[in-house]
Amino acid sequence: MENYKSELKQRHIMVVEDEEDIVRLISFHLGKEGYRVSSYGNGREALDHAIEEPPDLIILDIMLPEMDGLEVCRVLRRNDRTVSIPILILSARKEELDKVLGLELGADDYMVKPFSVRELVARVRAMLRRIDNMKMPDEKDSPEIIEKILRHGNIVLYPERHEVTVEGKKRTLTHKEFILLELLMSNAGRVLTRELLLDKVWGYEVEVDTRTVDVHIRYLRQKIEDDPANPHYIETVRGVGYRFASR
Ligand code: CA
Repeated sequence: MENYKSELKQRHIMVVEDEEDIVRLISFHLGKEGYRVSSYGNGREALDHAIEEPPDLIILDIMLPEMDGLEVCRVLRRNDRTVSIPILILSARKEELDKVLGLELGADDYMVKPFSVRELVARVRAMLRRIDNMKMPDEKDSPEIIEKILRHGNIVLYPERHEVTVEGKKRTLTHKEFILLELLMSNAGRVLTRELLLDKVWGYEVEVDTRTVDVHIRYLRQKIEDDPANPHYIETVRGVGYRFASR
């Protein structure tokens, strides 16, 4: 546990929010987890600092003075220095989420206010873990990382062998189902929109619409879930897309 905490100590999380109570609450809990926290109550100022010294993750409220969170997000995604920083959006309105998770703004996750700070800390941890998993093999020495095996609960996915096992038993997936599952598992904990999944898995090869994604998710659940009607792994995020549960 000590090692785990000291590893996290170096991570820098930027909180962009003008409501001081929320900033204090978030900062306190993230600080307790060993993260270094900086906070800005103004979008423009936060943006300048993020570009100057890119943090490991940004928690970004949409309602901000001067420059709102959507605009901050848009600029961050256009700048080479900040394009890949994970962004967790805070929003008071669920209607905004389609937009923030979409391809244009490309936030990584969101929470609707009022939120549980414990849940927020868990999301932050999952987002940072995902970054670690995506590092190049030579940055880690575990053979498992080199083979890029994905493992969540009882499900193991072997990208090289193009194989999936559930509780050690091999499951037969179509090529599309395999890519879909690989995408979901390698982004576990993150909401992926239907549009993004469609773009990544189907590209522009055929005329398909977002319902195609739903149909393939259904097939996939039948193959990997114990109870496809009550999925344990592939969660539906209503009106937005899907998330592979980070457990
Ligand atoms: Ca605010």
